[in-house]
Formats: sequence, structure tokens, C-alpha cells
Amino acid sequence: MSDTSPATQPRVAVLGAGLAGLSAARTLATRDFDVTVFEARDRVGGRVWSETINTPEHGGVTIERGAEFVLDGYEALRAVAERLGLSLVETGMSYYVRELAETPHIHTSQVAEAGRQATELAQTFEVEPSVSDVLDQLEIDAEIKAGLKARIEISTACEADTVAASTLQHTAAFDPKPSWRVGGGNQQIALGLAAELGERVKLTTPVRGVSFDGDEAVVHSAAGDERFDFVVVALPLSFVNNPELFHFPITRRRRTVLSRIVQGHVAKLHIPLAARPETSAIMSVAGRFWTWTAMDASGEVGAVLNSLVGSPSAVRESEVHDGDGKLYAAIKAIRPDLDLDDDLGRVLTVWDEDPWARGSFSSHAPGWSDADSIEVGSPIGNLYFAGEYVDPEFTCLMEGALRSGMKAADDIAAAALA
Ligand SMILES: Cc1cc2nc3c(=O)[nH]c(=O)nc-3n(C[C@H](O)[C@H](O)[C@H](O)COP(=O)(O)OP(=O)(O)OC[C@H]3O[C@@H](n4cnc5c(N)ncnc54)[C@H](O)[C@@H]3O)c2cc1C
Repeated sequence: MSDTSPATQPRVAVLGAGLAGLSAARTLATRDFDVTVFEARDRVGGRVWSETINTPEHGGVTIERGAEFVLDGYEALRAVAERLGLSLVETGMSYYVRELAETPHIHTSQVAEAGRQATELAQTFEVEPSVSDVLDQLEIDAEIKAGLKARIEISTACEADTVAASTLQHTAAFDPKPSWRVGGGNQQIALGLAAELGERVKLTTPVRGVSFDGDEAVVHSAAGDERFDFVVVALPLSFVNNPELFHFPITRRRRTVLSRIVQGHVAKLHIPLAARPETSAIMSVAGRFWTWTAMDASGEVGAVLNSLVGSPSAVRESEVHDGDGKLYAAIKAIRPDLDLDDDLGRVLTVWDEDPWARGSFSSHAPGWSDADSIEVGSPIGNLYFAGEYVDPEFTCLMEGALRSGMKAADDIAAAALA
């Protein structure tokens, strides 16, 4: 990839410097397209946001305020990490297996078995059912079912009756497989891609919309109006779905399909610990949150308790919009094994309050079809779409964001040759 692209090459605007936009931009730049990335924030990575938290005894520990777990099948992420010289660190616990705080007599294997049964049952429906449709037909113990439902709602960040049961394949899967993080923080992936792109990435440059003028697309941003041959819209669903935040020449069919993607809601609270804990994963069924401790790049368990509350109602009821008090108290109640100190600084991240995300990640609504997946990933004129909500298989995940960006770039390269 040369530092600058030949002026004769097609000009491509990439809107958004999350993993989707950066992977699209990097793929296009290696093919010598003339790429400009517009990013509203003063940093790259979007919903991948790593920071260092100070702990009294063990110094700085990397926390993930957004995406945390690298899961099974993340081939695109692994390939990018390897190219950038980044290592993946095993967390020493499993994202997929969580003890139930209020019903400890239920073993994690019982919830996992119920999850497998639910996944199988979901395949028997003619039209993609909701998670609730499947759970209603599942004949299992009520407490196990409650644990299963909570697990799915936390992981999808949505209420069970609003999301398709296909989420059980990845986001809410149950096999006790390992999980990883990028050493030094997942945001290293975004920073590495941005470094490769150099001055092509324009930070603090929000885009208001795109319009067509003949064969060209005009990007309306804080820097003014600029013309491009192609545009990759790699903005969060909340923007693509709201003409007041971002306007573009959308078709009626696209609007309908986008309305069948559900926006999840999540908040995370990171609590520094005085002493290194064991690895752990404990979930509150009632509060729809889970807490975990995990290994970091040092090869030891980080001295921090991570937690995530998920689903619109759980985020609302945890009252995190008024601070972390209620959530922190609930976490303390289910983690008597840890010596939580009220005076150590905590880090709260409420994703629906983030002006450039306005939510956490997406899921498909019941009834979602393959035709919907094709529609959502198809261009409109010379506008191409990327983002976690676009990838049909790894929807809502870092892997989906990366894959969707690469696909948008491939589609543009093919269109430019045609
Ligand atoms: C709390 C949380 C936990 C998660 N956990 C996991 C996990 O464990 N594993 C996993 O794989 N995934 C996880 N995810 C999901 C993962 O973060 C996303 O799937 C992925 O990062 C989305 O990338 P993206 O490029 O599609 O969107 P984004 O990262 O949101 O990138 C979009 C970019 O567009 C920018 N932007 C927005 N509006 C404008 C505008 N008007 N003009 C210009 N720029 C704009 C934003 O600032 C942002 O940088 C989690 C997400 C959250 C929030």
C-alpha cells in the first residue's frame, strides 16, 4: 500500500472508522483506490475501545469498554491481528459458561444442555422464530429456563421476544469453548489498521449525509461537501436507521428491512480490585448482568472485575443513566467472594448515551430471512454498506464488522472493473 494513491484511481469515501470502515478502507487502499475515511470521534475503533485502569497493587490493567471477547471462528480478526503482529491472549475462562448467582444449585452444564435443545428446536420452525417462541415450547425446569433466558437476553442485549432464535448460533451459544482478547487491548486492531492508512483517516469529521449528483456521490461532512466515485457507509445501525442523524438516498425496501434489525442496549462497569482474583464468570438472572475476571496479556488474572448489563429493560432498571450506584450494589451482592473497595475508581460505560453509537450491537428480529441479509448488504447506487449489522453470519460481533468491510471493498473493486 503506497502512502498516497494515484489521482486517476476511483475516489472512495469510507464513513466511520470502526472495524468495518477501517477494514474496508485498508482493503481498498492496498488496491490503490484513493480512500478518505471520515470519523466523527477523536479516536478510531468505535465500539472497540480499550483503556488502562489503575489498580492499587498491580498497576495498569487493560479494560475493554466495548467489545471484549474474540470467539470461535473469528478468522478475519485472527488474520488481521497476525498481519499487525498482535497476539491473542486466552482469557482462561469461557465467555459461553456462566454460573447462576441466584440459583447456584443449577449447574452450568444444565443451562448449556438447555441451550443446545433450544438451538435444535429453533431449526424445526418454518419461519425464523423469536427466542421466546422457542423457550415457550421448551419443556425444561423453570429455573433452568429462567437462567437460559437471562443468558440470551444479556448476550443479545435485547428482550427475548424481540430477537430471532438464530442468535443462539454465535452470540448466545453455549459450548464451553475458550475465548480470547487481543493482547494490549482489542483497540490495537483499529489502531494498527489506522496506522496503515495514515493521513487517509480524518478524525473529528462527522458526516451528516450523502446525496447523488449524476454518477458521483457527494459526502456532506463537517469539512464541507466532497465528491466521490464510491462511498462505504460503515456507520452504526442507529445512524443508518435515522434520517435525522444521517440522510442518504435510501430505498423503501431497505428502510423496511432495516426496521427488522433490533438495536441492543448495554452498559459496562469495570471495578479495580486490590488483589488478583481467580478467573470467574457469574451471572445475575434477576438483574440481567454478568461479572467476570479473566487473564490478561501478563499471563495472570487482571485485578479488575468486569461486568455487563444487557437488554433495554435491564439497562433502564439498573439506573446506570444516573451513575453506577444501583448496579455496583447489585454486583457487590453477587460477588461476596471479592473484596470490592468503594474508594477505588470505577469506570462506567453506557453505550446508549454514546453520541456516535446510540446503542450496543444489533440482532435480527423474528422472521428475518436470507433475502433480508442479501438486501441489507447490497449497494444502493454507488453507496456500499458495512458494519456489524450487515454481516449475515457474525452479526453484532467484531468479526462481522471486519468481514462486512472487506466484502464492501471487494464489491467496490468488482464494480470499478466492470
Ligand atoms: C459493550 C459492548 C460489548 C461488546 N462485546 C463484544 C464481544 O465480546 N465480542 C465481539 O466480537 N463484539 C462485541 N461487541 C460488538 C462490537 O463492538 C461491534 O460489533 C463492532 O465493534 C462494530 O464495528 P462497526 O465498525 O460496525 O461499528 P462502530 O465500531 O460503531 O464504528 C462506526 C464508526 O462510525 C463513527 N460514526 C458514527 N456516526 C458518525 C458520523 N455521523 N460521521 C462519521 N463517523 C461516525 C463512530 O464514531 C464509529 O467509530 C460489543 C459491543 C459493545 C458496545
